[in-house]
Amino acid sequence: MTDARRLAYLEALGVDVYVRRGLEPAPDFTLPERMAPAESMPAAQAAAAPGVEATLDWDQLRARVAACTRCSLHETRTQTVFGVGSRSAKWMFIGEAPGADEDRQGEPFVGRAGQLLTSMLKAMGFARDDVYIANVLKCRPPGNRDPKPEEALQCRGYLERQIELVAPMLIVAVGRIAAQNLLATDTALARLRGKVHALGARGWPLVVTYHPAYLLRSPGEKRKAWQDLLFARQVFARLESGERVLP
Ligand code: SF4
Repeated sequence: MTDARRLAYLEALGVDVYVRRGLEPAPDFTLPERMAPAESMPAAQAAAAPGVEATLDWDQLRARVAACTRCSLHETRTQTVFGVGSRSAKWMFIGEAPGADEDRQGEPFVGRAGQLLTSMLKAMGFARDDVYIANVLKCRPPGNRDPKPEEALQCRGYLERQIELVAPMLIVAVGRIAAQNLLATDTALARLRGKVHALGARGWPLVVTYHPAYLLRSPGEKRKAWQDLLFARQVFARLESGERVLP
């Protein structure tokens, strides 16, 4: 994607980018030399053990999710929302849970927030199909309430297997709930940003950013979200060049 096109998407997002002609917007973050681990992350939770899904292939996993009654959310869902995108993607975006639109359509990030995520991806030079998008929970919590810890725990094996199958180079946790759940921490999102975290026993590199639904409510934060995505691109470039981004 050309810089001009990227800037056009940023303008559409409402992100003010001040840049000298011919130059890309400079990130405000610098990549730390060493990974800063999520504070207060309980190691036992972060290094989640392989579950019963650990050997399932894509079709088996999708069928297991579609029939799942492990938590009470199955009683109120219209359908499960499995995940979408390239199964061999180098980037994986993980949100919190389906909302009303997602529950209706069976696809993550399809409402207004989803459209904003799609615009953010385009600003990075991606189509939705270039990445893999999933949620911590596969069923909608009623009234869009936050996921309960026991629901996230019951659903965790499905997401872990999705990550294993995609084997992305970089994971982006989208929003506070997803970030805190994945990293098993209650550290504020602001303090998780701008760092590379290690997810699970395999230590998948993970960075965090704001949820697009939050950005719709707080458009003034969009610039920070763009900084996060620039930071993610820096991390990805280092990973692609074989550089170590984690201790
Ligand atoms: S949220 Fe996850 S664990 Fe709960 S019923 Fe849906 S698929 Fe199963």
